[in-house]
Amino acid sequence: MGSQDSKEYEMAVTLPSNTPVEGCEINPDVRVNYRAFPALQPLPPYSLTFSWYREVVCSVHPSKLATVQCMSCVKLEIPVDQSYHCSSQCFLDAWQMHVKLHSHAVKTEKQTATGGQQELRRLRSCGSWPDFSADQLFGENTLVVEREGKVWIKVGSSKTYKPSKEDVGFTLRLECVAVDYAEGTQLAPINIIVTDPVITFPPRCPRCMIEIGSYMKSHNIHFKSQTSDSLTFSVLSYNILADMYTGMGKYSYCPSWAVVWEYRKQNLLQEIIGYDADIICLQEVQSDHFEGYLQPELMKCGYSVMYKRKRTELYTSSRHYISEGCATFYRHDLFKEIMKYELEFDRRAQVVVEDLKPELKHVGHIRLMKDNVALIVILEAIRDGSTNDDLQFRICVANTHIHANTELPDVQLYQVANLVRGLEKIAQSKIPLLICGDLNSPPESDPHMLLVRGRINSVSGERTDPLGIYQILKLEHSLALVLFPTPLQACHRKI
Ligand SMILES: [Zn+2]
Ligand SMILES: [Zn+2]
Repeated sequence: MGSQDSKEYEMAVTLPSNTPVEGCEINPDVRVNYRAFPALQPLPPYSLTFSWYREVVCSVHPSKLATVQCMSCVKLEIPVDQSYHCSSQCFLDAWQMHVKLHSHAVKTEKQTATGGQQELRRLRSCGSWPDFSADQLFGENTLVVEREGKVWIKVGSSKTYKPSKEDVGFTLRLECVAVDYAEGTQLAPINIIVTDPVITFPPRCPRCMIEIGSYMKSHNIHFKSQTSDSLTFSVLSYNILADMYTGMGKYSYCPSWAVVWEYRKQNLLQEIIGYDADIICLQEVQSDHFEGYLQPELMKCGYSVMYKRKRTELYTSSRHYISEGCATFYRHDLFKEIMKYELEFDRRAQVVVEDLKPELKHVGHIRLMKDNVALIVILEAIRDGSTNDDLQFRICVANTHIHANTELPDVQLYQVANLVRGLEKIAQSKIPLLICGDLNSPPESDPHMLLVRGRINSVSGERTDPLGIYQILKLEHSLALVLFPTPLQACHRKI
């Protein structure tokens, strides 16, 4: 069979969500495969073409193709579906009724406008269409097509498409074609996706913030009054939920569009910047999103950056290896990095596993070798444009994400105990400590009690501690830690 036979191959195209959101780029996942499995030979070289369309109908005749748009409606920001007409004649015939829309809009908008045939324009595209030549741009046959009884305007020809304000309320149609390089023929049947109507970018919901003043009072926490020499700063700790963990219907309580990274990233950045923190500790920062978005965006806002990713990588459909990890940002006009430590809990666990009894080694390896990390940095305050050698102006910030599976409390305790052991060494130099992160451990759990009380008394049973970790670990520390419930704690993991 030659590669001209499009039945030999199939193409699967999926969108992150079937509900596009205004201003959020849609990046389809495209796979071309042999129909037969296993594949007998590699796929021939091919290219992909993408055509994005938006549904358009005449505002007077819903079954007719829209070919003109009233520019007064556009200027007056009248809902876009009321501005299209199937012909100039249709527009003129409808003018007596149509002009009332303008009058109403003028009244509400306090603007002036004129109407008439000269205000019409031929339909054109919106959004991104970098591959169009000038001929295609103005060639009506290319821009407006009829498919299965509906009229569509071509709005893009790139792989990705960012819906604009003009798209809101309309469905989009994506046609994707794979073309054999050598033969110049279609490799697989055309793939067509029709979305739900594009929605406007919803306003960000305010956080349910918790005042910690009353908490400090009820727990008898007092700080010395500040002097002019004191170092004061603000800190944000936030698990931003890596996109790689949002699949498999795990967040089905959210609308699908709200889970898509292209939507979440804009809200996250606005929120993070909005807190205006001097130090930011983020967890579950996906490596490609760190490099391509959070790092450059926060650097623009005056932050220096450090990142520690987990070792486990995922191979994505876009042929990249990704992982996630902890990222710490600090204002470079306030702090200078003195020293940085990276903790890989699985490397440390290796020694413990090797010391286990032979019959426990296998289960110990699977259970304990979790690749969670901690990123620890010693910062020094920059005062009056210069740094000070005085330790009083240094602070150690630890950022960690402890293993999430609460069915493995011994693993969580092992990781927290390891972090504490490392921090005790730093604390010997009298540098204040700040531990930020997602401990995945509820109040009263052993990891939590170890941190807050400095020791735990419980002796875990065989089910929760099959390796005897509780006997191996030093389950006490000398750090004087004070626990703060973070304002985000109550909203943890909500999108
Ligand atoms: Zn109009
Ligand atoms: Zn019409």
